[in-house]
Amino acid sequence: MSEGSGKLKENQPGKYYVDQDCIGCMLCSEIAPDNFRSTVDIDCEVEYNFVYKQPSTKQEEDLCEESMDVCPVGAIVDNGKGAR
Ligand code: SF4
Repeated sequence: MSEGSGKLKENQPGKYYVDQDCIGCMLCSEIAPDNFRSTVDIDCEVEYNFVYKQPSTKQEEDLCEESMDVCPVGAIVDNGKGAR
């Protein structure tokens, strides 16, 4: 389980974020395409994903939770406290 120490700067502030353990597998952006996006390098290869938009509906929240469950490296973090 990730401890979330390496929060990526691209994340939109809020409850969920992706940390530097992300390997860019894109599972989360396939499950929750409205909430996760990918960064690409100059060769258009995916580098990593980040939280593009915090969930605003129950459905989006559920998809973010599902993404957390399937992330192979535990890089999606829910700090459980909301943005401050
Ligand atoms: S599922 Fe996890 S490892 Fe894969 S892109 Fe999303 S945050 Fe990164």
